[in-house]
Amino acid sequence: MLKIYNTFTNKKEEFKSINAGKVGMYTCGPTVYDYIHIGNIRSYTTPDILRRYLLYLGYEVKHIKNITDVGHLTEDDIVQGDSGEDKLVKKSLKEKKSPEEIANFYEEYFKETEKEMNILPANYFPRATAHIPQMIKIIESLIEKGFAYEKNGNVFFNICKFSEYGKLSGNTLENLNVCKRFDGEEHEDKKNQWDFALWLKAPKNHLMQWQSPWSVGYPGWHIECSAMSTEYLGEQIDFHTGGEDNIFPHHEAEIAQTECHTGKKWVNYWIHTRYLLVDSEKMAKSKGNFYKFEDVKEKGFSAMDLRMLILSSHYRSQMNFSWESLTQAQKNRKTLENFFARITNSAIHNFNNQQNKRSKIDIKKFQEQFENAMNDDLNTPLVLSVIFDFVKNVNSVLDKNENTNLTEVKSFFEKSLNVLGIVLEIKSLKLPKEIVDLNKENEFIDLKNILGTVLLGISQEIIDLMKQRNQARDEKDFKKSDQLRDEIKKLGFEIKDVKDGYELVKL
Ligand code: AMP
Ligand code: ZN
Repeated sequence: MLKIYNTFTNKKEEFKSINAGKVGMYTCGPTVYDYIHIGNIRSYTTPDILRRYLLYLGYEVKHIKNITDVGHLTEDDIVQGDSGEDKLVKKSLKEKKSPEEIANFYEEYFKETEKEMNILPANYFPRATAHIPQMIKIIESLIEKGFAYEKNGNVFFNICKFSEYGKLSGNTLENLNVCKRFDGEEHEDKKNQWDFALWLKAPKNHLMQWQSPWSVGYPGWHIECSAMSTEYLGEQIDFHTGGEDNIFPHHEAEIAQTECHTGKKWVNYWIHTRYLLVDSEKMAKSKGNFYKFEDVKEKGFSAMDLRMLILSSHYRSQMNFSWESLTQAQKNRKTLENFFARITNSAIHNFNNQQNKRSKIDIKKFQEQFENAMNDDLNTPLVLSVIFDFVKNVNSVLDKNENTNLTEVKSFFEKSLNVLGIVLEIKSLKLPKEIVDLNKENEFIDLKNILGTVLLGISQEIIDLMKQRNQARDEKDFKKSDQLRDEIKKLGFEIKDVKDGYELVKL
């Protein structure tokens, strides 16, 4: 049974889905005005692990991640962030490009980075600018129900009308000491300083503006998530995720808007990832102290090294980034890769020796440990230690040349790594000659399956070409054999002739 920490109740809770077997998940996506940094990557890895584990448990998951391409103002640390410039507008003025060009460029970069990091793509990445009518509808409903008010073309949510305000973050009306006085510290049209903008009237010549019943203007930052979440996932959802800085004011505002609009409890489990720090300070685009994915790659690290590093600390602990810890993560990744090569090679070389072997490895025990760790609030550092323990056990069996059921070993290893989103790639494998014998249909090994998971890019076509080439060599037709070698090369692999077989190398 999966237990997950819910920011809403401040405790670990057993997960129960709203609809049997199905999960709806919403993640606040990036504001696309700059390169995403590795702190952002950390916060997007958490819902990815959660989603992968839910898939492992057999749930069908619908995951929505929005793209913020309007409304996120620069002064978002101040009160409710209704002052300052729009981050996209500011960047487009600086780079002399349209906000759309800026947004499209960084959205593309974001998606590419997620892909390289093996973060499963959301089922849909809705853009805020494509959902202005849905936002207007919710704002109209909030005004009609008395939760929001308009002044001078600006619309604000009146937090004093929502007594449950603060239930996520603890910044309750009492704690914020509001609704008693108005000191007009922020926007002059606000009734209370903590009221937040739903719609703002655009200054003259503002780069992004839309018609609305109140003014030609643009939406506040928070309303987009209420609009897109209800649009794609309905009025009640299982999970909502984000970074810890989203808790307040963003998610608090989202709850106020959505629940006052629908009259229903909106989210069952709130999941927040703690910060990635650099020298004990938050890594942030606005602070300029951030590392992009490129910075990591330039120093010779791969996406999977970074993923290993992220998984090595629990998502609810703050994590201090250092190049030393990334170097250690890279070593760990290589240990897993060597192990994967070893069991794959052993499986291939013992392919006709697999049946009736009693496994020395208690797979069930490791699987239980793996699931217990995942069930305990996605405890990935513990999961990694279970996997390394498993690797140590299997290695010691192989060192002693003892028989073990490698197919099961390999299957457990692959399934666990899949939940963690770790892809291991082996560059070359030795294949005994008999395994690619065209005339021998071997019943013990599914070659495409066993090779396909390690030598990424292998296809049935390549395997067939290898078999034909082996046949040509047996018939001493070296011209044909060379032709087939070239064909294999065109498909991205080199085949080398070695003692008693072949070596297949990924180019
Ligand atoms: P933004 O594009 O600024 O809206 O941020 C996108 C996501 O990354 C949000 O969920 C933030 O909470 C999260 N985030 C920002 N900085 C960090 C950080 N240093 N560590 C972890 N998550 C972060
Ligand atoms: Zn959001």
